[in-house]
Amino acid sequence: MLKAILNYQEIDRKLYQLERELAGSAERKKYAKLKKYMETASEKLDALDAKAEALKAELTTLEEKYAITAAALEEFDHLEELVENGGADLSFYKKKAMMHLDRMKKLKADIAALEDAVKATDKEYRELKAEVISKQAEYKTAKEEYNVLKESKEGEKAAIEAELKKAAVGIDANVLTVYKTKRKEKIFPVYSQLYSGRCSCCSMEPPLAAQNKLEGGATIECDHCHRILYK
Ligand SMILES: [Zn+2]
Repeated sequence: MLKAILNYQEIDRKLYQLERELAGSAERKKYAKLKKYMETASEKLDALDAKAEALKAELTTLEEKYAITAAALEEFDHLEELVENGGADLSFYKKKAMMHLDRMKKLKADIAALEDAVKATDKEYRELKAEVISKQAEYKTAKEEYNVLKESKEGEKAAIEAELKKAAVGIDANVLTVYKTKRKEKIFPVYSQLYSGRCSCCSMEPPLAAQNKLEGGATIECDHCHRILYK
C-alpha cells in the first residue's frame, strides 16, 4: 500500500516540477504583476469615483445652505426703512446681519475647499485611468505570452496525468483523497520519510509513541509541516 502511494508521488513529482517551472517563469511573473496592477488600479478607480460623488453631494449641501443664508441677509436691505418707521434697535439688526455675513464667509471658504478637493479627485481619477489604458496593451501581451507557455506544456502535463491515473489504480480511495488534499494545499512531497527519528522535510522529531506506530508500517502526520510520515 505504502509502495503504491510512494510510486504515485514519484510520478506526481514530475507534475509538481512542471507546475513550479510555470509558476517561476518570467512570463508568469510579468503576467501576475500586471494582473495585480490592473486589479488594484480598478479598485482605486472605483474608490476615487465614490469619493468624487460624496464630495459633490457635500458641495451641493453647502451651496444650498449658502443660498438660504444669502436670502436671509436680503431681508436686511430694508434696514434703514425699518429703523425710521419703527425706531427699532439698529444695533440688534446690525448684529444679526453680521452673523449672517460671517456664516456666509465661512460657507464660502468651505465651498472653495470642497471645489478644490473635487478637482483634485477628478484629476487623480483621470491620470490613473490614462495610466491603466496605456498599460492595457502590455497586460494583454503578457497574458498571451504566458498562455503560449502554458499551452506548450499541455502535452507533457496530459502525459503525466495519464501516468498518474494508471498509478492510482489499487490505491485506497481515502489515502488518495488525503494525498490530493494536501497536494492542493501546496504541500510537496506529501509523504516524508522519517530519517534518524526526524521528519526528513522539516526536521521535526515526532514523539516516541508516534514513532512506534510507524514501525508497523502505519503512517502519522508531522505536527510541524503536516506531511505524512512513513518509515
Ligand atoms: Zn515535517
